[in-house]
Formats: sequence, structure tokens, C-alpha cells
Amino acid sequence: MDDCLFCGIVAGEVPADIVRSDERTVAFRDIAPQAPVHVLIVPRRHITNASTVTGADAEDVTALLLAAREVATAEGIAGEDRGYRLAFNVGADALNSVPHLHLHLLGGRAFGWPPG
Ligand code: AMP
Repeated sequence: MDDCLFCGIVAGEVPADIVRSDERTVAFRDIAPQAPVHVLIVPRRHITNASTVTGADAEDVTALLLAAREVATAEGIAGEDRGYRLAFNVGADALNSVPHLHLHLLGGRAFGWPPG
């Protein structure tokens, strides 16, 4: 999609610290990390956000979860004694700023609940 930042990263036109990619997803480090591990996992196909997902996107959404698990393992935060948080932000109250579906993988520190 034209003028989409994360489509630009997927296309290799915008630089990013890519940690994993496959035929459906690309994972890269967040430019403003909120935790020692903060990786964004995006579908290669443009999907606007979690609220626009349809059944036709099922394989891409599943691929995001599988990629997140692999990245968490590779980053050393997947053990039961560690752990991580996965988040999709939707809309203004959640501070969703980039309109291309992305799964936040955050870890390497303890988080509170509910989130602030
Ligand atoms: P959200 O608030 O859920 O839309 O998250 C967007 C995330 O994208 C934020 O955490 C930003 O720090 C991150 N971000 C914005 N631009 C870039 C970029 N060029 N490379 C990596 N992460 C980015």
C-alpha cells in the first residue's frame, strides 16, 4: 500500500532491524522500545489493524502468533520462568499510530496488570 511505513519496511525500502521473516510475516525491533525486547511482527499483506481483520486474513494472523513464539524463543524470553506480552493496539485510546497491523512482542522485564 502506498505511503504505508510498515509496507515500506516489508518491501525493504525503509530500513529496519529485522530479526525474522517468512513468506507471510516480517519481525523487526521497535524504534522506540518499551522493554529490553520489543519486536513488532507484521503481515506482509497490508491489513489496517486488528479491528479490520476478517476470516480471509486467518492465515496471516496465525502466522503472526507463530512468528511471535519463535522470536520470543530466539530472544530467550519464552521459558515459563520468563514470559512476554503480546499486544495489538486499536484506535486512539490505545495510541495506535501506524495503520498496518502489527503485533507487539514485549519482554525482558516484568509488566503490571492491568497495563497503565
Ligand atoms: P502502535 O502504537 O501500536 O501503532 O505502534 C507503532 C509502533 O511502531 C510504535 O511502538 C513505534 O515506536 C513503532 N515504530 C514507528 N516507526 C518505526 C520504524 N520506522 N521502525 C520500527 N518501529 C517503528
